[in-house]
Formats: sequence, C-alpha cells, structure tokens
Amino acid sequence: MPGSIEAGPAVEGWPAEVPVEINQKWCKGCDICVAFCPKEVLTRPEGGKAQVAHPEKCTRCGLCEIMCPDLAIVVLPAAHKGTSSRGQGGAADA
Ligand code: SF4
Ligand code: SF4
Repeated sequence: MPGSIEAGPAVEGWPAEVPVEINQKWCKGCDICVAFCPKEVLTRPEGGKAQVAHPEKCTRCGLCEIMCPDLAIVVLPAAHKGTSSRGQGGAADA
C-alpha cells in the first residue's frame, strides 16, 4: 500500500505490542541504531535493513530514534499496537 510503513518481517515471539517501528523505505541499513541500542533490540541482516529482533527487551529509551540519520525509526508509546504518522504525510514530510 503506498505510503504505508513496513515494520519488517515478523520474528518468532513477536508480541502484540510493537515498541518501535522502522520505516523500511527510509532505512538505508547504516547500522547506527543497532550499534547504539543498549538492549540489543535491533538487528540488521547482512546487506539488509534494520529489524526489531527482540521487542520484549525494548525500554523505549528513544536512542535509536534520536540517532537514526534518516528518521526511519519511531519509538511508539506504550500499549501502541502499531502504525504511526511518520512516512504517511506526517510532520516529518512537511
Ligand atoms: S539508523 Fe536508521 S537508517 Fe541506519 S539502519 Fe537504523 S533505521 Fe536504518
Ligand atoms: S528505544 Fe532504546 S531500547 Fe528500544 S530499540 Fe530503541 S534504542 Fe533500543
């Protein structure tokens, strides 16, 4: 669907609550978020884009969102079930 956020492939153990969304269209696979995440929540396959591998470990510290140079990550509020405005005509597109 045009303009939608692709959160990446689901992984085993993926919970109903999604702490972080990664805009796969904006992610350039630089690895910065993976390197800075203190809880090793994020991963990136060889040559691929960032993925949320261990959502249950996320503390919503916000570091990945701050460090991503392409604004591709959004840390969602607790109890959020997915989708954000970023990449869908939200403020970042203004
Ligand atoms: S920091 Fe941003 S652009 Fe770099 S891998 Fe992570 S999500 Fe992708
Ligand atoms: S919010 Fe913090 S703990 Fe969660 S994925 Fe981002 S850097 Fe890691």
